[in-house]
Amino acid sequence: MDAIAVLNPYTGEEIGRVPRGTARDVERAVQAAREGARQMRALPQHRRVAILAAAAQRLTAEAEPLAHLLTAETGKTIREARAEVARAATILQLASEEARHLHGETIPFDALPATEGRKGFYVREPVGIVGAITPWNVPLALVAHKVGPALGAGNAVILKPAEQTPLIALQLARILRECGLPEQALHVVTGYGEEAGDALVTHPDVPFLTFTGSREVGMQLPARAGYKRITLELGGNSPVIITPSADLEQAAEGIVRGGFAVAGQLCISVQRVLVQESVVDALIRELLPRVRALRVGDPRDEHTDMGTLIHRHACDRVERDVQEAMAAGAILLTGGQRLGPTLYAPTVLQNVPRQARIAVEEAFAPVVLLMPYTTLEDAIALANATAYGLNAGIFTRDLEEALTAAQEIVAGTVCVNDVPTFRSDLMPYGGRKQSGLGREGVRFAMEEMTELKVVSFRL
Ligand code: ADP
Repeated sequence: MDAIAVLNPYTGEEIGRVPRGTARDVERAVQAAREGARQMRALPQHRRVAILAAAAQRLTAEAEPLAHLLTAETGKTIREARAEVARAATILQLASEEARHLHGETIPFDALPATEGRKGFYVREPVGIVGAITPWNVPLALVAHKVGPALGAGNAVILKPAEQTPLIALQLARILRECGLPEQALHVVTGYGEEAGDALVTHPDVPFLTFTGSREVGMQLPARAGYKRITLELGGNSPVIITPSADLEQAAEGIVRGGFAVAGQLCISVQRVLVQESVVDALIRELLPRVRALRVGDPRDEHTDMGTLIHRHACDRVERDVQEAMAAGAILLTGGQRLGPTLYAPTVLQNVPRQARIAVEEAFAPVVLLMPYTTLEDAIALANATAYGLNAGIFTRDLEEALTAAQEIVAGTVCVNDVPTFRSDLMPYGGRKQSGLGREGVRFAMEEMTELKVVSFRL
């Protein structure tokens, strides 16, 4: 069988090989997952709870080697990798807790004259087999966000992890099995998106698909998937509004955290900073020293603040987009250079033309754009002037401004006095417009991964 080499984005070394799965492997996984779905459905809920809780503990016990693998596979810093392992453990723990509370309710049939004389209820049943496709940027926690709720709700799962980061997903599958998950309940098919991924998307016996990845791929999936339920978590182009009453120190700290975490490769990275004209200079004074202080380099080094981009092409792309924006009139405040094959300096650009590619598209790179505005109305219009609608933020001490932004910005989450990079694993998370369909967040994903069944007794 063909193999895919997994590369360390910082050193360029090969760190492992995985099978290049095909439609036949997906077919085999579906056959086996049918039995897995039967077993999961039959498993008492307390057993599912116990398996997920044990896996959460095991992740914590194995945190250090898992974090090193994550750093090697993604190029994110070791500190970021440790935080991701801890987060994955929290997600599985939440899934185990929520699994205890997955229930329906009674239905008051006698509240309508036409249905009186009946008693009944609805229950949540597992959908059966969940197909999950995941990206490379947060390859453990985002897998946990799909696999945890799916298993907690009593489903079997077929996971197609990103081709760049399959090793950490295989580790999570091993841990779940070691913690008592039935063999047939979780199948990891490694491979490329257009091969193994597409076979999973189009398989008629996979009734539910959950995908996190790019907008380009995600938007094609409903048509490819045909008649099945689908959850999509796609990209973003997150705005944060800085008003004159904002705490600029807090805002600057947030922008650095949210703009350069995982080298800007998060769908909720701070990308567009919309600053009221009167505070542009003051914000720049707070922001630039903090950006320049970031230590960029070897992700394994405990002192490194920002690691690499996922591959050379990502670096080529940001280089091109920044140069293009500058040729169109943007001012470079800091950064703007390539520091290695996959390392790009944390970059801040001012006055980027609104139509520049880096302002319109998802940057997915360590680049923050400062864009001035005059009135809050302009700022909200600018925030909404994008195909995306994932997270947004506003820094203000004015309650009315905060509430207006919260109401008028079209997004899954509006963060007041925080950057849009904020996410809690227990909240409903997902996008409006082309940022996605449906919601994740453990309880919400679990609800999506169940079917309601009504049982009615005629008395
Ligand atoms: P990125 O460009 O950030 O790598 P992608 O959307 O290409 O994002 O990848 C996210 C996930 O989707 C990966 O697991 C990838 O293999 C998978 N994928 C890519 N193309 C397809 C496709 N045509 N059908 C199904 N899955 C795909």
